[in-house]
Amino acid sequence: MRNRTLACVFAHPDDDAYGAAGSVALHADEADFRFVLVHATSGELGDIREGFPATRQTLGAVRRAEDEAAWRALGRAPDRHEWLGLPDGGVAGVPFEQVVSAVVQVLDEEDPAVVVTFGPDGVFGHPDHIAIGAATDAAFARLRSPDRSGFQRLAHGAVPQTVFERWNRQRDELGLFTFDPTQTYHMRGIPDEQIGITVDCREVTGRIVAGLREHRSQLHVMSDDPTDGDQWERRVRREWYAVAWPEPRPGAPMLTDLFDGLG
Ligand SMILES: [Zn+2]
Repeated sequence: MRNRTLACVFAHPDDDAYGAAGSVALHADEADFRFVLVHATSGELGDIREGFPATRQTLGAVRRAEDEAAWRALGRAPDRHEWLGLPDGGVAGVPFEQVVSAVVQVLDEEDPAVVVTFGPDGVFGHPDHIAIGAATDAAFARLRSPDRSGFQRLAHGAVPQTVFERWNRQRDELGLFTFDPTQTYHMRGIPDEQIGITVDCREVTGRIVAGLREHRSQLHVMSDDPTDGDQWERRVRREWYAVAWPEPRPGAPMLTDLFDGLG
């Protein structure tokens, strides 16, 4: 029997909204698709904009609820959703082995064919992203075994360098701030040749944006203009991943789906 379990391991509620929402939407209606979602933190240190009904004490719970509402809006709730409860902004300060063990526990039970997380770039250089990505890589390496049907592919969400540069140019032309990839918390690309999976999400952009809109407390940091649905739909037309395992063969064709080519 084929394994169609996808496990996504992210740092914050909203990383998943951009990170793998298109891939989940594309597989949402398959009978054997199983979606496991792991969040390291509740994002409790996130920005609280003026007038938003949350406090520092309640923001974590608010963001967990927003994340759950987002997946409902997309139309495919996770089959299992784990909140590891690690400190927002402090994942890198938690003993590495403790983070790895927490991820191992979930992945060992689920035996996912594909695991998605952050690569060493963290997309934004965010230390939480980099730390949970490294811990997930370690968990994957520990659990992978020829005796299991799972752990066939480890994928790192990423932005190709040429796309990053195009987005930055467009931002400059619109008079918006531009990202400086040498700075922490700024978006960055990875070399185009490291991208092994490009997913065409155009048929599900409406579902992705419906999910994004549920992250109400963070809309002002997630988009320059949350009312501009067209801009959001353009931005989520594709998802890109580097394949961290198995090591890509030089000249291997571009995969078009997280499960592309798996048994
Ligand atoms: Zn994040």
